[in-house]
Amino acid sequence: MYVYADNAATTKMSETAMKTMIDCMENYYGNPSSLHSVGQEAATKLVEAREIMARYLHANPSEIYFTAGGSEADNQAILSAAAAGERKGKKHIISTTFEHHAVLHTLQKLEKQGFEVTYLDVHRNGLITAKEVADAVREDTALITIMYANNEIGTIQPIAEIGALCREKKIPFHTDAVQAAGHIPIDVEADQIDMLSLSAHKFHGPKGVGVLYARKGMQLVNVIEGGAQERGKRAGTENLPAIVGMAAAFRESCENMEKNKEKITALREQLINGLEKIPYSVLNGDRTHRLPGTVNFIFEGIEGESLLLLLDDKGIAASSGSACTSGSLDPSHVLLSLGIPHEVAHGSLRLSVGEYNTPEEMEHIVNSVPGIVEYLRNMSPVWEELKKGERKHFLQK
Ligand SMILES: *Cc1c(COP(=O)(O)O)cnc(C)c1O
Repeated sequence: MYVYADNAATTKMSETAMKTMIDCMENYYGNPSSLHSVGQEAATKLVEAREIMARYLHANPSEIYFTAGGSEADNQAILSAAAAGERKGKKHIISTTFEHHAVLHTLQKLEKQGFEVTYLDVHRNGLITAKEVADAVREDTALITIMYANNEIGTIQPIAEIGALCREKKIPFHTDAVQAAGHIPIDVEADQIDMLSLSAHKFHGPKGVGVLYARKGMQLVNVIEGGAQERGKRAGTENLPAIVGMAAAFRESCENMEKNKEKITALREQLINGLEKIPYSVLNGDRTHRLPGTVNFIFEGIEGESLLLLLDDKGIAASSGSACTSGSLDPSHVLLSLGIPHEVAHGSLRLSVGEYNTPEEMEHIVNSVPGIVEYLRNMSPVWEELKKGERKHFLQK
C-alpha cells in the first residue's frame, strides 16, 4: 500500500485542474496583453480566473494579484506594508515566532534595514491570543502579519479577532493563509484582512502560482519589475495555464469544502486516536483549533528523520518538523517556539492528509508507526538514559 500523507508539503493535482490546464495550453496560448483575438481570448480566461479567486475569498477581482506562489505573495505583502509604514515614519512590525520562512526571512531582511519586529511567542497549544497582539501594538506599528494556519502543526489562529483589532487601530493586517486556503472557509471581509497570501499547490492546484489579495487602497511595491501586468504590480507574462488551473482547483476545493472537511477530519481523528496510544508521545497543537488534515506528534527518544525513512519503506510518505530544506540538523523552529526542548523536538512526525486518502490508509499508518518507534527507541542512547532514569522525561507516559 502506498500512502501519501504529506499534503501540507504539497498536494497531488486534481483531475479538474489538470484538464483545465491542458485545455488552456491547447486553446488559449495567446498573450493576454496582445490585442488580436487569440490574445483577447486568453485575456478572457484570465478575467474568469480572477473572478473565481475573488468570489471564494469574498473579495473584489481588482484586489487579486497573481504571483508565482505563496512565498512571493508573502514577500510582496510584507515589503509593501513596510514601505508604506516607512513613509509615515512607522518601522515596527508584529508577527509570531512560528511563521513560515517566507515571512520570517522577509522580516529579518527588514530588521537589517532598521525595522523593529516583535515576534510573539506561541503557547504550547500552538495558538496566540488577540489580546497578546493588542498588547504589542505601538504608535509606530506599520504591519501585523500572522499566519492563518500553521504548516507544521496545523493550528488555526483567531484571525477574525486579530482582524477586528487591526481595523480598530488602523494597522494593516496581513495573513499567510497558504495552509488554510481551500481547506477552511476564508472571508476577507468578515475577517477584516487587508492582505492575504495563498498558493495553488496546497489545494490540488499546480505549483509555482499563487495569489496576493490586497484590499483596495493598499499600496503595493513591486517585487518583479517589468511590464504592466497585474495592474502594474507584478510584471511578467501571466502564467495562464497555472492561473486557470489554480482557479479550477480553488473552486473545486471551496465547493466541496464542507463534505471534504467531514471526511478529512474523520481520517485525522483516526490517526490521533491511534497514535496517542504510543507511550511518551504527544499531539502538538490544540486538539480542536486545527486544520482538518494536519497532525503533528512527537515521540520521545527518537529521531524524526529515521522514522521518516522507515515509514517510507512501508510506503508511507510523511514529514518531520525537524527535516529542513537546508539539510541542517536544527529542529523545527515551530516546535521550539512551542517551548519543546531541542532534543525532544527532533522526534517529530507530521502527517497531513486530504480527501484522496482513505480510512484503510490511516489504519496502515496507525499499525506501522508504533513498531517503528519501538525499534528506534531500542537503539537510541537517549531512550536508554530515559529508561535508566539518568534523564528526565519531558512527556507523560
Ligand atoms: C507552502 C507554504 C508557503 C510557500 O508557498 P509556495 O507556493 O511554496 O512558495 C508559505 N507559507 C506557508 C504557511 C506554506 O505552507
